[in-house]
Amino acid sequence: MSTLLITHPACLEHDTGEYHPECADRLRSVLQALETEEFAGLHREAAPLASIEQILRAHSMDHVDFVRDNIPSGEGHSHLDPDTVVCEGSWEAALRSAGATVAAVDAVIRGDCRNAFCAVRPPGHHAEHNAVMGFCLFNNVAIGALHAQVSHGLKKIAVLDIDVHHGNGTQDIFFDNPGLFYASTHQQDSFPGTGFAHETGSAGNIVNIPMHAGAGSDAWREAVSIGILPRIADFSPDLIMLSAGFDAHASDPLAHMRLTTQDFHWITVELCKLADSFCQGRLVSVLEGGYDLRALSLSTAAHVRALMGS
Ligand SMILES: [Zn+2]
Repeated sequence: MSTLLITHPACLEHDTGEYHPECADRLRSVLQALETEEFAGLHREAAPLASIEQILRAHSMDHVDFVRDNIPSGEGHSHLDPDTVVCEGSWEAALRSAGATVAAVDAVIRGDCRNAFCAVRPPGHHAEHNAVMGFCLFNNVAIGALHAQVSHGLKKIAVLDIDVHHGNGTQDIFFDNPGLFYASTHQQDSFPGTGFAHETGSAGNIVNIPMHAGAGSDAWREAVSIGILPRIADFSPDLIMLSAGFDAHASDPLAHMRLTTQDFHWITVELCKLADSFCQGRLVSVLEGGYDLRALSLSTAAHVRALMGS
């Protein structure tokens, strides 16, 4: 079975203004990296629009209204908070990003493909039930996980978040849902300031491993191998999802961890093994951060290469 790549041109129309690190060129770099011959075997689909009903599984109506009501028409931008900027095209981009995740979940559960990568923006993991934050409007991974629970009846979904920043939004949405497991490695003392080890969820369903600035491959792989992979196995998930942020790469300008492209290949292989053991290989990966364009494209290529089994 193949690997599915879901994206949409509308995700390039989410313009955050000059000098914003979360820019459309990020997604262009990712897509360009996946245009080479070795990725010719990817099955490619255009992301559908998520429905409001699907978004409301993770967010309040007030939140949806807040985002929609602040989308400017015509030229120009609106700041929803100091970091989170929207333009006219942002609404469709956000619905396509969430819709990609929903469609990827549908595809792996139906068995149309073994696993999937959603190349989308805006990213999602900082968006809480009732708050936009950190470049994120809707929590794409959480919307996908809740879709798997509600529409497909899956009982247990595990999300690993390897973005260098803590996914406070995913943790917020998952906190009281024992069927949803969230594990994160992230640089401590960086944005958004959450993700302490003592934040464990109401059912012990949250695992946070803060890492020191400067932490590299050895420390990170050890933390993941000891602190997270066995916990995912204990949880015995029906679906595994990955918040695929690549900003823990040593070249990233927004943080100070020291991972390499090979680390992103390694973790993908490890997650594929867990998915094979527990859930027929079902793995849905969703792009989050990554702000050095060269590191982002190389890391994404390494990640998708591993999803494809090579
Ligand atoms: Zn990040």
